[in-house]
Amino acid sequence: MRRLRRTEALRNLVRETRLEPGQLIYPLFVCPGEGVRREISSMPGVFNVSVDEAVKEAEEAAGLGLGGLLLFGLPESKDEEGSGAADPQGIVQTALRALKANAAAKKLVLIADVCLCEYTSHGHCGMVHETADGFEVENDSSVEALGRAAASLALAGADVVAPSDMMDGRVAEIRRALDDAGREMVPILSYASKFASAFYGPFREAADSAPQFGDRKTYQMDGANVREALREIEMDLTEGADMILMKPAMPYLDVVRAARDRFEVPMGAYQVSGEYSMLKAAFAKGWLEEERAMLESLIGMRRAGADFIVSYFAKDAARVL
Ligand SMILES: [Zn+2]
Repeated sequence: MRRLRRTEALRNLVRETRLEPGQLIYPLFVCPGEGVRREISSMPGVFNVSVDEAVKEAEEAAGLGLGGLLLFGLPESKDEEGSGAADPQGIVQTALRALKANAAAKKLVLIADVCLCEYTSHGHCGMVHETADGFEVENDSSVEALGRAAASLALAGADVVAPSDMMDGRVAEIRRALDDAGREMVPILSYASKFASAFYGPFREAADSAPQFGDRKTYQMDGANVREALREIEMDLTEGADMILMKPAMPYLDVVRAARDRFEVPMGAYQVSGEYSMLKAAFAKGWLEEERAMLESLIGMRRAGADFIVSYFAKDAARVL
């Protein structure tokens, strides 16, 4: 076996899995204001950016040959229903219009996250109502709101919409809403298997979306279940999802592999905030070699079967590649 490992040229020739900048998607957290660039303390190197700064980020991402951007919003104000998610003048809608007016940014696939948690005062991904034993996140009213949000994002210029809420039936409703809005060519990238995970911790600071009470275990998946993940994916595809996204990535690579073996659709993995932050912490301590560990974490996701990867390392990795 060692004959083919002798030189870098030989290793390169027989390499089974490749990683290219065009397979990487960079998440952006857009906030109000101008000239704002606020570092997220638990995610060194990642910023909340105002729309003008988001355009600069997009120019850089396009220059590096990245595949696209995944947009999240930090709205000016929030309410019980998360009505800001569908506001044509909302923060992500405004950012999308600005990005679409920029020649460099237009080269990227602009993916808009569709969820309510960034827009609800309680931080849950759907409508909440009180019950005798606490509260419940309502499914069907949430699904309608998600459809409105997706249509509004598509009308503002999103190339792809990516529902991350984990309500049942939302893909079908979003498809209907997109078609009704005349956006029948906008594909849905469904976070079909999204596990309730401790690794989302830093994101909640980044997107200011931590639930104010309870947790998300009644709608996100139990981390112990792989068959259930495959059922989720199958249902989302039946409802009209064009691509699927798996989240988190590293602790769930077996799920990515199982999905790859069973489904033919394009599939992405999301290297979530906690995966990024723990690597960054180890780099800061000098415990891991930055470049190699970063690329190894990403190639592992490709090898598991992900066609593309959403990662906070996207720009850093592209620079190395
Ligand atoms: Zn959410």
